[in-house]
Amino acid sequence: MKPNRLPLRLALVMLALSVALPGLALRPTVALGQQIPSPESFFGFEMGADRKLARWDKLVEYYNLLDSESPRLQVVNMGPSTLGNPFLVLFISSPENLANLEALRQINATLSDPRGVAEAEIQQAIDQGKAVVVQSFGLHSSEVAASQTAAEVAYDMVTREDEEMLRILDNTIAIMIPCFNPDGEIMVTDWYNQNVGTEYEGVGLPWLYHHYIGHDNNRDAFMQNTIESVYGAKIIFQDWIPQAYIDHHQMGAYGARLYVPPYAEPIRPEADPLTWREMAWYGAHIAYKEEEAGKSGVVNAAVYSGWGHFGFHWITPFHNIAGMLTESASARLATPLFLHPDQLQGSRRGMPEYEEQTTFPNPWPGGWWRVRDIVEQQKIAVIAALDIAARNRKTVLRNAYLKASRQTERGAKGKPAAFVVPAAQHDPLTAQKMINTLLGQGIEVQQAPEAFTHEGRVYDAGTFVVSMAQPKRGVIRWLLGRTFYPDNSYTRDRDGNPIRPYDMSTDNIAEYMGVRVDPVDTAVETALAKVTQKIDPAGSIAKGQHGYVLDGRLNDSFKAVNLLWDGKVAVRRVDQPSAGLRAGDFIVSASASEALVAEIAQETGVGFQALDTDASAGSRPVTRARIGMYQRYLGGNMDEGWTRLLLENFGFPYTTLKDAEIKADDLHENYDVIILPADNVARMTGERPEGSGGGFRSRRPEDYPPEYRSGFGKEGVEALKAFVENGGTLVTFAEAGALPIEKFELPIRNVVAGVPSKEFWSPGSTLRVHIDNTNPLAYGMPSEGLAMFLGGNHVYQVLPSDRNHRIERIVTFVDRDLLQSGWLLGEALIAEKAAMVSVGHGQGRVVLIGFRAQHRVQTHGTFKLVFNALLSSPALAPTTSGQ
Ligand SMILES: [Zn+2]
Repeated sequence: MKPNRLPLRLALVMLALSVALPGLALRPTVALGQQIPSPESFFGFEMGADRKLARWDKLVEYYNLLDSESPRLQVVNMGPSTLGNPFLVLFISSPENLANLEALRQINATLSDPRGVAEAEIQQAIDQGKAVVVQSFGLHSSEVAASQTAAEVAYDMVTREDEEMLRILDNTIAIMIPCFNPDGEIMVTDWYNQNVGTEYEGVGLPWLYHHYIGHDNNRDAFMQNTIESVYGAKIIFQDWIPQAYIDHHQMGAYGARLYVPPYAEPIRPEADPLTWREMAWYGAHIAYKEEEAGKSGVVNAAVYSGWGHFGFHWITPFHNIAGMLTESASARLATPLFLHPDQLQGSRRGMPEYEEQTTFPNPWPGGWWRVRDIVEQQKIAVIAALDIAARNRKTVLRNAYLKASRQTERGAKGKPAAFVVPAAQHDPLTAQKMINTLLGQGIEVQQAPEAFTHEGRVYDAGTFVVSMAQPKRGVIRWLLGRTFYPDNSYTRDRDGNPIRPYDMSTDNIAEYMGVRVDPVDTAVETALAKVTQKIDPAGSIAKGQHGYVLDGRLNDSFKAVNLLWDGKVAVRRVDQPSAGLRAGDFIVSASASEALVAEIAQETGVGFQALDTDASAGSRPVTRARIGMYQRYLGGNMDEGWTRLLLENFGFPYTTLKDAEIKADDLHENYDVIILPADNVARMTGERPEGSGGGFRSRRPEDYPPEYRSGFGKEGVEALKAFVENGGTLVTFAEAGALPIEKFELPIRNVVAGVPSKEFWSPGSTLRVHIDNTNPLAYGMPSEGLAMFLGGNHVYQVLPSDRNHRIERIVTFVDRDLLQSGWLLGEALIAEKAAMVSVGHGQGRVVLIGFRAQHRVQTHGTFKLVFNALLSSPALAPTTSGQ
């Protein structure tokens, strides 16, 4: 060896020591790494050990301990989770960087939005900035490894003294969300521990692992209906726009051991292309590091397409962030799983067989698979991503600047130049919620203080403008622009059958929310003011001689009505339009407490308008319906959870009905309305679900302990039938409608049932519909709207019968050009057919909403179709008795 290498090595060691010195100076008695307990010593087992899971409360204790013992780690408690557990963010970097965190955040913000910044300042920011990498763990709580991995990564990062780690600490700010769903981590850990050693060891949680939304918690990043998403968005979209983001997940057990970036085809267009190149670059380094460490079974560019849902890892590329995920093969929660070689399979996307290919050169041969295996491969992935960012700090930072400035330029030159959100809207309060959603994404929104005319249209004062000449143009385009999912050989199989998109085929929130948005070709030149905080309208109050009117077109009027009912105030509803009153408006008595009215106006933002004429002739009293909603086990039903969230957001009280309550024979005495959330009949009744069997993820009642084998059976069906015959209203969402159609023999049919996908296909698209807003079930709705239609949803045709007159078609598809956004095959099959019907049955009725009117609490544009069914209904026509 050349002797002159030695001094250089010594110099490097000295440099390394000097990096660690300030930490030593702060804590002279603590040699770094000596007094910090390893996860193994703290928890009493190695992370990922067979049948062992560290629980979130202990993990929190551990992170707080690391914070107090190490100058390299800071814990930030963002606040309580949905169920009140702490939601933590860890900042890990060199002590110097952590001491300068706010200055570094500002440098990062400059590079993420360099508009108006001089080139010299950009260069300085690149020189002085640090690469920011956010990684998150444990979003999906049944994927148990990642929340354990995070603890070991944090420990390694605060104790390792090698060159690689010191380079990472010096050059990056590693932001870790060590558990994205603390509540679920606790639920799954407790459930698992309760069943270890029994025949139910390793069986999944019988209910949702997020209080409201279960596995859909990564479908919430763009709308942020849960507090966990709000925290994530604050970190990733607002405070820190990282250069890279990786979310660590687990997938099925029977394929590759680890999926790493980049994504497979097709990709969603219009991110800055550098973002896709970066994802390939990170992915190659991660895959390389896994291979170097001897890990087999790693695949990239397969399984997960680049056009996914707008969860955090799939929306971030449109924020100019290399937004990625890893997916490890699962075991059975924390229980090892043995796999035979012939059980291992490829993937429909990018991996036709379980055989060598360039992106999968080293197939794992089978054998035992344990959580520890997952922890080890995840650790390599986490550090590899930081390593490449640290080694290429300036490149990464320069890219951040390039991506942001090029997207801004594209926005300035392209069409549309902006999206205008007029102040005049069918439901202005919902339009304001949409603006708040955009602000939650860190998108710049401006508002016109004065009325203006643009491209021939007149806009009122208060109109919002979202310019495309900003770094986040990509995300704006998909949230507000019309969307067509690709139909090509990436999205069809060899027989030409369409392949389901990973999630929805559009994410246009304006369409979801029923908000008018005008794309404009030229920049809006009128004076505009930046909207600097979320809009929180105060409402207004004008008392009339006959009380107040609430606009029935506002979703929030339903919340106001619920709050009035909470205060025992009587409410009437207008059926006969007259001067100043529309069918569906609510009338509030003049005797209502003024303090209560003021409080409700403030809370909901609705205007209590003066009613000066006696409108009692054209209106009727409405009362609160007693609402029940079915809830099953088998892993829970996310649509049920989302519906709970919807009802709570708008103040509707409800009772959760499990099997025993459904089977009770006095349903009609206790409930006026029962909701069956979207679900298949077999899962509700407990009949064996068709196509079940196979992998551990299939959910069969017999897999669960007896008390969780849900299904209300024939008895429940009979009880629901009696409920309707005795005057109750049964409301079904989407495929749940099959239960009354089949079991009550309703004279309607679902015309798309059993139709091959080549002939009819609508995987999460917005379809144009007519709405009969003279029907009380559609009061307050516009006469034209959009229905969110997912695969498996229903389209109704009325069958000839002596009960034709008892069927009302509330929502019907238009006659042609049905598709607004998404992907639709076979529109002729559903044109002019019904999307929502009410069918009189006995003394009651069944309201069947064939599409997803309340999908994920995102489709605000159709919430009122649900709400109207939850109020006392007008007396049924006299012809109904004895039919
Ligand atoms: Zn997952």
